[in-house]
Amino acid sequence: MSQSPPPSFSYSRLAGAALGTMCGDALGMPVEGWSAGRIEQTHGRLDAMLPGRLPAGSYTDDSQMMIAILQTLVHRSGLDPAYLARRFLALYEPIRGYGGRINALMHRLAAGEPWDRVATDSWGNGGAMRVGVLGVLFAEDEEACRDAALTQCRITHTHPRGLAGAASQALAVRLAANLGAAGRKPEPTEFVERIAAKIEPIDQHVAQRLRAMPPLPHGDEAAARSALTAAYACDVSAAEAVPPALGAFLAAEGPKQAIVLAVSLGGDTDTIGAMAGALAGTYWGLDALPAPWLASLENQSAGRDAVLALCRKICDENC
Ligand SMILES: [Mg+2]
Repeated sequence: MSQSPPPSFSYSRLAGAALGTMCGDALGMPVEGWSAGRIEQTHGRLDAMLPGRLPAGSYTDDSQMMIAILQTLVHRSGLDPAYLARRFLALYEPIRGYGGRINALMHRLAAGEPWDRVATDSWGNGGAMRVGVLGVLFAEDEEACRDAALTQCRITHTHPRGLAGAASQALAVRLAANLGAAGRKPEPTEFVERIAAKIEPIDQHVAQRLRAMPPLPHGDEAAARSALTAAYACDVSAAEAVPPALGAFLAAEGPKQAIVLAVSLGGDTDTIGAMAGALAGTYWGLDALPAPWLASLENQSAGRDAVLALCRKICDENC
């Protein structure tokens, strides 16, 4: 880290990434697995925190694993994967909705298996859903950003598509931090190509899926939803979940619209919402996130205020 604080790495952007992740996760939680049509028929424009299998404002596995990353950054000088694996296990609560493979992995960790032997060859979006905060921390250094994203992903997901998805999301957040700091609007084609070119050596399929981004009518939620749901499956795979999250961010005029649009796509709504939320919270900053959402976020021992305190500490040590 440099001596002077880089404008792209600030408390506002790091906390924006973290709480943006939590907002998208919590907004998407009650409709996880629903189709876009069912969400619209049931809720119209879903823009308020609702209860689902957890109380309103609760986060799921996406944010819980992000919190483990933040705790690791506070308690270690860098991203120590052995420590992070222990934090994943320490925070693990099955009620948060972990996938079957991660539940099995946690049981193996709990049984004492080494952290670097438990990952599965998964192409899922689990490495991407939690990684946004690293895009802010490594906003100055593209290589370090990609490497950190891959390091944390390999604990759970080793398939090239899973790894490329995690790197894509971290690099996209990094780009959002730099564009936000420069006061520049992201240009969708240029934004996507920058990410695709960087992750192509990891996995060509994910790069190709990023490049399949449809034209995005700026600020037109219904048109952007139609375009993104036609282009992507929006499911639990990294290749079909990361691109629409980027698309929701790129199409939106503000963080609320980005997150509402991401959740409205249906499918893996909490994760796509979490990833769009990390991008939007980074680009527009913490104070731009909707106050009613922040007020209703879960705020227990590892909830909203604890996450803000972790972000403050990481900034005090690194800014
Ligand atoms: Mg989840």
